[in-house]
Amino acid sequence: MSKKVLVTGCAGFIGYHFCINMLKEEGSTVYGVDNLNNAYSPLLKKERIDNLKGNDSFSFLNLNLSDINSLNSLKKDFDVVLHLAARAGVRQSFLNPEIYVRDNTLATANISNFVNKNSIKKLVIASTSSIYGDSGVNKVSEDKDELGSPPSVYAATKIAGENIAKTILEDSNTILSIPRFFTVYGPWGRPDMSILRFIHWIQSGKAVRLYGDGKQRRAFTYIDDVIAALEKFTNQDIHGTFNIGSDSINTLNEVINLIEKKLDRVANIEYLDRAYRDIDVVIPDLDKTKKQLSWEPLTSLSEGISKTVEWCEEKIDLLNKIDYLYEGEKNPNEN
Ligand code: NAD
Repeated sequence: MSKKVLVTGCAGFIGYHFCINMLKEEGSTVYGVDNLNNAYSPLLKKERIDNLKGNDSFSFLNLNLSDINSLNSLKKDFDVVLHLAARAGVRQSFLNPEIYVRDNTLATANISNFVNKNSIKKLVIASTSSIYGDSGVNKVSEDKDELGSPPSVYAATKIAGENIAKTILEDSNTILSIPRFFTVYGPWGRPDMSILRFIHWIQSGKAVRLYGDGKQRRAFTYIDDVIAALEKFTNQDIHGTFNIGSDSINTLNEVINLIEKKLDRVANIEYLDRAYRDIDVVIPDLDKTKKQLSWEPLTSLSEGISKTVEWCEEKIDLLNKIDYLYEGEKNPNEN
């Protein structure tokens, strides 16, 4: 069924893929908003937007969602609002907490209020596994009740965003879905995240900056699996919070080995101190998601890495122009 969808953060990694996928549905129109901030290379965001603009059913608005007045310039008759805009990144959030409060909590309050005032039927808000902190050997489920002590400023602002949206929409008829994503990677990924930068550094023979011993484990989740989940949230009426992550848990060292194998190169690893508040492992409990959303991750890490490396080889000219270090990393005293 054709839909009119508002996507916030459309120039971002996940937003871009969602828009590309949504635009394949005949008759659907996508309104994308993004302020193209410089959390990482705006060149990558511009390139994504240029690709989207090639589609007649896509319109783009450069808008800052944390500015309440800027939302007045938006159309109001959407079937679904997908709110992906945010300031992501755990380490960076300790450097500039005010940016995280503004772009994650305030912006989410503004978009929730916009949805409520305009009686929009559905709101999907992206949240994160970072809110759980270390899971140890136990899987984390959506109803985990220790969320009162968030492990980072990023986590705290995302939990606040979830709660504000729930509070604002409590008495409305809006269906509110909150997917909590676990470490997403793939083509067009973020250069501030491990997989894209590791591929670039190994490909170009540069030192691979590795914080800690590489034994940290994550549920690395391939972008196509995330988009399949978002498609379900968009097309079905599913209320609630859901873990969206891989069911295989891998170390950073395993990621590096897979990249080395695919590129047939050896990584030159520069071991750095473990990052502040870095977590050892976070394992998603996917029972609720599998049962209620009928979703499960389908892409293995080796398949996902292989596809991502192939994309990096294809886009080597673009990827060579991108900065892979963020503000705090450029000055080692701030890490
Ligand atoms: P991203 O940084 O690539 O995309 C976010 C986009 O939002 C950016 O293009 C940015 O310019 C835009 N934005 C930020 N603040 C804005 C504002 N005030 N007004 C307008 N636009 C603004 O990040 P992503 O990886 O695509 O993440 C999308 C969502 O998924 C985020 O909410 C993030 O917290 C969540 N998430 C991502 C991951 C992951 O591994 N990528 C994991 C867990 C959760």
